[in-house]
Order: sequence, then C-alpha cells, then structure tokens
Amino acid sequence: MKGKNHLISGIIVLFAIMLFDLFLGLKLYSIIEQNVAVTIISLYLFFAGLLLPDADKTNSWIFKFFLPFALVSWLTGLMLSFFKGKKFRHRGVLHSFKGMFLTSVISAILSFLMMSLFIDLKYEYAFLFFLVIILGQLIHLVLD
Ligand SMILES: [Zn+2]
Repeated sequence: MKGKNHLISGIIVLFAIMLFDLFLGLKLYSIIEQNVAVTIISLYLFFAGLLLPDADKTNSWIFKFFLPFALVSWLTGLMLSFFKGKKFRHRGVLHSFKGMFLTSVISAILSFLMMSLFIDLKYEYAFLFFLVIILGQLIHLVLD
C-alpha cells in the first residue's frame, strides 16, 4: 500500500474514533487534558506511526516526511534482521509485531526526550506517545 493511502486510512480511523468517542461520551481526549502541544505532538506521531513500517524501503513517504523516525527505524530493522539472521527487506522485520513494538518504544522515548528540551512534559506522555505510534503502525500492518 502507498504512503498516501496509509495516511488517508489513518485519518478515517481517527474520525471513526472521534465519532465513537462523541456517541459514547468516553471523553478520550481528557487524557491529554486539552494540552495543545501534546495534542499536536500526538497527532504528528500518529501520522509518523502510520508510515513507520515502510522505513524498510528508502523511497517511501516516511523518509520524505519523517526522516529522523525513518532513520531510527531503518537502523532498528537492520539490527533486528542481523540478530535474526535474516535479510533486511521490505515487509520483513519492520512489518512484524516485534519490529513494530520495538520501533514504537524507541520512537516514543526519543520523541519524549527531544520534546522535553522544549516543553514541560509529564512522564505519562511517553506512554501516550508510544500508544499513538503503535496504533498508527497497527493500522499500517492491518492494511498492508
Ligand atoms: Zn508497509
């Protein structure tokens, strides 16, 4: 599936979650306490997550729009493949649950550390970042 389609399907899922939230009155957004900066970062990370598994293909959209994430995931994929004794290829380790989990953890921690330099972040937000990234990646894997 192409990067554009991954982003579009992610936006559709996002709207579906918002509608669900509205009808059921879950107020999922209260987790982020109307913190605008955290909301923007979370959205950004969700979109990065949607494209992240394709960091195993250097001409993919993740390299175009989220280069630091692409490089970190590409390296992670390379190392994972090496330790598994497999060839690093498109739809290989980065399209597996292990790869998805590991790249989500690393991306969330790095994003948290980076953003902490600029704004005051609670530690819980690192977990929120992990959740939005892995949700994006999950949608990617389901559709691929
Ligand atoms: Zn893919």
